Amino acid sequence: MRRTVIAGNWKMNKDLTEAIKLISEIKGNLDSKPENIDVIIFPPYISLETASALIKGFSIKLGAQNMHQESSGAFTAEISASMLKSVGCEYVILGHSERRSIFGETDELINIKLKKAFSEDLKPVFCIGETLEQREAGTMQSVIKNQVLKGLSGIPESDIKNLIIAYEPVWAIGTGKTATPEQAEEVHLFIRNLISDLYSNETAENIIIQYGGSVKPSNAESLLTQPNIDGALIGGACLTADSFIAVINTVV
Ligand code: PEP
Repeated sequence: MRRTVIAGNWKMNKDLTEAIKLISEIKGNLDSKPENIDVIIFPPYISLETASALIKGFSIKLGAQNMHQESSGAFTAEISASMLKSVGCEYVILGHSERRSIFGETDELINIKLKKAFSEDLKPVFCIGETLEQREAGTMQSVIKNQVLKGLSGIPESDIKNLIIAYEPVWAIGTGKTATPEQAEEVHLFIRNLISDLYSNETAENIIIQYGGSVKPSNAESLLTQPNIDGALIGGACLTADSFIAVINTVV
């Protein structure tokens, strides 16, 4: 049985005071969370250390929204994997569509970052997904396959147990448009089969594949009950404790 992983990507939202408030509210409402769910929060870098202290003793895990691929050096404003570890991060989001489209991150760079994260014992949430134009042009599967093959190139099967994949159709991120449960399930199954071809059936059966793209309390249950959808990566709806907790509470 795969665990369900509900994660909140705060993006560039919440200053330190607001972050403390949101984490306190999440903690205050998380008592009845079932055992089979992992909850991860991804606040901005400046709140990570405080968040780490605040979640100690609670079943909330911590991750960062990105990292640099080098260990250290003259890379002004960048943050390394070991820095993230030092403030208590267990996870890191890599390849988010905003990093790809706004900041020009390529599949090749994401592959290097994934390798670096594994080498530093960080668990990556590897984001993939097609644009609306690609879906309408009928190239969705080849786009996803290309992202998976390039992103995971040279990564051994032993690392994949620490990998989460987030399928996030770009057209559904922050737009209010959600993939239907059937559309999402079709792609999740396609990704799981790709992992089976690349690695093994066992690894494919065990890997967590989250859906992301306008997940909210009203659509979460229908998505999360699909057989190959193992959780959600949530943007907008993770910014208030009420809606984040409401999504968590849809998981049975
Ligand atoms: C995201 O940024 O990963 C995301 C899924 O955002 P939203 O839930 O706002 O669409």
